[in-house]
Order: sequence, then structure tokens, then C-alpha cells
Amino acid sequence: MAKKILLIEDEEKIARFTELELVHEGYEVKKAFNGRDGLELALQGGIDLVLLDVMLPELNGLEVLRRLRKESQVPVIMLTARDAVMDKVSGLDAGADDYITKPFAIEELLARIRVALKKSGGSHPQTNQITVCDVTLDTDRHEVTCQGELIELTHREYELVRVLMTNRNVVMNRENLINLVCGYDYVGETNIIDVYVRYIRSKIDDRFGIKLIHTVRGVGYVIKE
Ligand code: CA
Repeated sequence: MAKKILLIEDEEKIARFTELELVHEGYEVKKAFNGRDGLELALQGGIDLVLLDVMLPELNGLEVLRRLRKESQVPVIMLTARDAVMDKVSGLDAGADDYITKPFAIEELLARIRVALKKSGGSHPQTNQITVCDVTLDTDRHEVTCQGELIELTHREYELVRVLMTNRNVVMNRENLINLVCGYDYVGETNIIDVYVRYIRSKIDDRFGIKLIHTVRGVGYVIKE
């Protein structure tokens, strides 16, 4: 049976686009455009997972989550604005299972949905760690370690590693990487990603003698298993 996802998002464009992708993936989608309607639908039950925007009219996402958690343990993934660290922290404190930063790559959202659904299905232990060639990304702790040693990364370096690792085995082009790492409103050097890759290589590859980020000539970058 198709899993039911409740999408609570007031930006209609994002809601429509996300709905199309989810339906295409085989999910059944219900939508609400404000927090009050969303909470009501969520409390009616029969939902397998909630995608919950933070900035919502009527009742904001955090308040929806707080009220929902009094009655339901349905998995919730928060949709937060870029760099809104407080939202992420408060969301996780209030009982969100995960969060994803807007704008998000649909593949990443789908991956997180699968993880959250598996976790609630109870058949697989939850892990927020991904390891590729000795390098471990821990999205709970916001940390990258290599061979057990913590790597000091700037915010954007971390984001670049996170995007490439969560999309591992997928070649990401520079434009997508700029959008995901620096934001859609980024104006500046177009070789910025190459610069971050160089920094990351000096901090990880050179130091530990591994090859983490591969260059795909003329396209972009990939982290491969
Ligand atoms: Ca919103």
C-alpha cells in the first residue's frame, strides 16, 4: 500500500513541485497550506510521515510539531530556511526526526523520507552517519571525521561534504553544488566550488592519504563508495 505523506507548506510552488515528485515516487500526498489545517490533518491519523515547513501562517511549524507530539509519534521532517540553525535545533528538540534545508535537492529529500519511514517501521536501526572511504559524516553532530579524527571544516566546506556524501555515487555539477552549498542567491566567483574542494582535499585527502572527492572533467564532482 502506498505510504501517505502529509505536506504542510504554504509556498504553493514548492508544495506543487514536491507533491509531483512524491507522487511520481509512489507516495500518496495530502497537502495543507497553513499550520492549523496541517495539524488537524496530522491529528486525524492515517499519515505515515509529515513534511513540515517552519515558517507557516496561522500556526508556525514548531508549534504544530509541539502540539502534534503530545498525541502522535508520526515521523516528521522539518523544512527549514537556509542557515536557520535555531530552527533546526528547536525542531529537533521539539521532536522532529530530521530536517532538510530549503532549497533542497529532491533526491536528498527522498532519501531522508526513506530513512525516516524505515526508522518508524522499526526494521532497521536509525543511523545519521554515512561512511565513505574512512570518512564519516554525522549529520546529528554536524561533524566529519576521518579515521576517527575530527576534521575542522568551515560551514560551506561541511555543507559541500554533506551534499556530496548524501548524494554519493551521483555526479553533481558545479551549478547545483553552488545552489545547494551557497544558496540560490549566491553571486560571486563561479569557481567557488573548486576552491572549497581544494581546501577539503588539503584537510582530508592530503592529510590521510585517501581520495574522497573525485573530479568528473567538464561536469563536476562525486564522492564514490
Ligand atoms: Ca513557509
